[in-house]
Amino acid sequence: MSRPLSLNRPEGVSDQQVAALAASLAASQPGIELLAAPADLARLSRDFHDYSPVLQQQLEGRRAQLAVRVHTVEEVMAVAGACACHRVPLTPRGAGTGNYGQCVPLAGGVVLDLTGLNRLRSIDPLSGVVEAEAGALLGDLETELRPAGRALRLLPSTWRTASLGGFIAGGSGGIGSLRWGFLRDPGNLLGLEIVTLEMSPRLLRFDAQGSAPLNHAYGTNGILTAVRLATAEAVIWQQLVVDFADAGAALAAASALPATALLLQSLTLLEAPIAATLPSPHGCPAPEPGDHRLLLLAAPDSLEVLPPWLEAHGGRLRWQAPEGEGRSMPLRELGWNHTTLHWRARHPDWTYLQMLLPRPEAPLIAAVRERWGDAVLWHLEAVRQDGAARLAGLPLLRWRGAAALAELMDQCRSLGAVIFNPHVLTVEDGGLGVIDADQVAAKAAHDPAGLLNPGKLRGWDER
Ligand SMILES: Cc1cc2nc3c(=O)[nH]c(=O)nc-3n(C[C@H](O)[C@H](O)[C@H](O)COP(=O)(O)OP(=O)(O)OC[C@H]3O[C@@H](n4cnc5c(N)ncnc54)[C@H](O)[C@@H]3O)c2cc1C
Repeated sequence: MSRPLSLNRPEGVSDQQVAALAASLAASQPGIELLAAPADLARLSRDFHDYSPVLQQQLEGRRAQLAVRVHTVEEVMAVAGACACHRVPLTPRGAGTGNYGQCVPLAGGVVLDLTGLNRLRSIDPLSGVVEAEAGALLGDLETELRPAGRALRLLPSTWRTASLGGFIAGGSGGIGSLRWGFLRDPGNLLGLEIVTLEMSPRLLRFDAQGSAPLNHAYGTNGILTAVRLATAEAVIWQQLVVDFADAGAALAAASALPATALLLQSLTLLEAPIAATLPSPHGCPAPEPGDHRLLLLAAPDSLEVLPPWLEAHGGRLRWQAPEGEGRSMPLRELGWNHTTLHWRARHPDWTYLQMLLPRPEAPLIAAVRERWGDAVLWHLEAVRQDGAARLAGLPLLRWRGAAALAELMDQCRSLGAVIFNPHVLTVEDGGLGVIDADQVAAKAAHDPAGLLNPGKLRGWDER
């Protein structure tokens, strides 16, 4: 299951090489921020891969030799050019909230912190199309879009802290995936501006089609400096917490709700032990022992129909409040990988898996229960996959070693699930396992020396 780290990468970056690079940058870009203190290098070489015991072991001790914080596209070009001239690897970094070690530099060199490159460039008042610099935080963008009546279509549950460029390069979907599918679905990402890693770096702009190979490529084939996205109308989402005494009824409701005409932004289903462990929003009662919990973000016009619909399907509405009111923990920070975060805060010896479940879902869930008992607990999210409503599983697993993990993945695959393995380092192995020739071609065109985030694009290493 876990592959050895790719060593097909620029080897032997000496401290002298990095010192020469730092000196050349300091001379040519007097305002640029260079960070070389061990604490800074450790902090900026980390992300949230510790959810995976496999990655934790593989990435132990991987560190950048220099971190550079940029604020302008010109500075990004200067760093790219210097890295190419000195043959030093460069790993782009947003907020460092990725889960697969995406921004951990495997080959040392430079980590480029892009969070200072964070301006909203434009919002088209007619179409709502937004262009922003890649380091902009998604939460800040949401705030800036609101006066125009617009909102981002898709957000990770780390929406407050994650960057736009990091979401495009390293994320996949999340809140909103029930309506808008995933970032790679045509129509969400409309364009990119990138800097190439060459001795004379180029600033390139791509339309939606040209951007596709750089979408979810872990920053291996271009440094994103700006992103153009389609947006959605802003809605004040209503948060609903609904409890079910019966697991079958809860699953049936979660499968049926996305097929109604109710406008939903997210739907999270938590099996009883998870529901009992996660925090409840202020004023929301804890679930009764054994109750399963459905978390919904629904449009205000759904509120006449939703409560009786849920009741008719065996649910009990326990709490309801519009988003943004009070200081309560928002429901959007209880789903997706925040479920894993909250669970692991209490159970650090657990990890997780990601999969698209087959329809119907119940036979797979029952077979896994039969084999693994309560060492696997189900957390489901409603998504739109190729235009159809589906349930994704982010089950929590008691860690029993790599062999047990591989067995569970094999079992789920054999029952029709599509696994997105969060315990691997490369773009391909975390996805469908296949090499995307367009991603590799984009790397050849934009990073001919293979210096961008080395070791993360298997198609490049194996070409
Ligand atoms: C609790 C928790 C919940 C999460 N929930 C979700 C979720 O719902 N959906 C989801 O998709 N993800 C989720 N994630 C993963 C992660 O938070 C998101 O994908 C986030 O958008 C990553 O943004 P970032 O700025 O932190 O990126 P980083 O972690 O900094 O970087 C991610 C990748 O993008 C590359 N990169 C960053 N910026 C650039 C750039 N400008 N140019 C080129 N490459 C770049 C990096 O090299 C790295 O490979 C979650 C993580 C945690 C810890």
